[in-house]
Amino acid sequence: MAAFERLLAAYGGQSWWPAESDFEVMIGAILTQNTAWVNVEKALLRLRETVAFDAQAIASLPLAALAQAIRPAGYFNVKARRLHAFCGWLLAQGGIAALATRPTPELRGALLAVHGVGPETADDILLYAFGRPVFVVDAYTRRIFGRLGVLKGAESYEEIRALFEGSLPAAAGLFQEYHALIVTHGKDVCRTKPRCDACCLREVCPPVARQVPSRRIRRKMKNVQGEGG
Ligand code: SF4
Repeated sequence: MAAFERLLAAYGGQSWWPAESDFEVMIGAILTQNTAWVNVEKALLRLRETVAFDAQAIASLPLAALAQAIRPAGYFNVKARRLHAFCGWLLAQGGIAALATRPTPELRGALLAVHGVGPETADDILLYAFGRPVFVVDAYTRRIFGRLGVLKGAESYEEIRALFEGSLPAAAGLFQEYHALIVTHGKDVCRTKPRCDACCLREVCPPVARQVPSRRIRRKMKNVQGEGG
């Protein structure tokens, strides 16, 4: 919670997920696999221009046409097959309203059994479309909390999810905001090359993770300062 409060104070509420409907969250969660959100937005726009935006229409669209429609999202042939499978599954289950009556562990298991739906995609859908208190773990979560010393680096997806869910109040709104803040922080500040000087978590981040100059460079800096008088 301490990290969440610092992130929230620094960035404010993120109002995620950027979508007009629960169905759009689901489609976006599949399209965003291995690509930046800006590409997903382009793919969603093209998809809407190509076909009615519902599970029946997308499942009925020929695979090649679907792949062309979502081309900007990358891996478009793979993702077209995944969207087909997902929309077919959604229809077979009776739609979103029928799925919403199922308990979270059962719903999560059912989502994970769908072609192309892994833990992160399933949890995106559970958290942002169904409003279930399931923590989404992504590469930013691993990087930031690894650097903070909370994660050692070898933990599995499920171990990290259990760690967060066991450490926070089980509230979907909190989890939604926290994941969004983690993404913002990972993109803007705790990047591959971190911008530690601009970081709101700096005070709770171990020096070893930060851009602390090495002893050799510190010595060199001291000498230069000394030479300058
Ligand atoms: S201080 Fe640096 S390494 Fe630590 S969380 Fe912030 S940006 Fe990441």
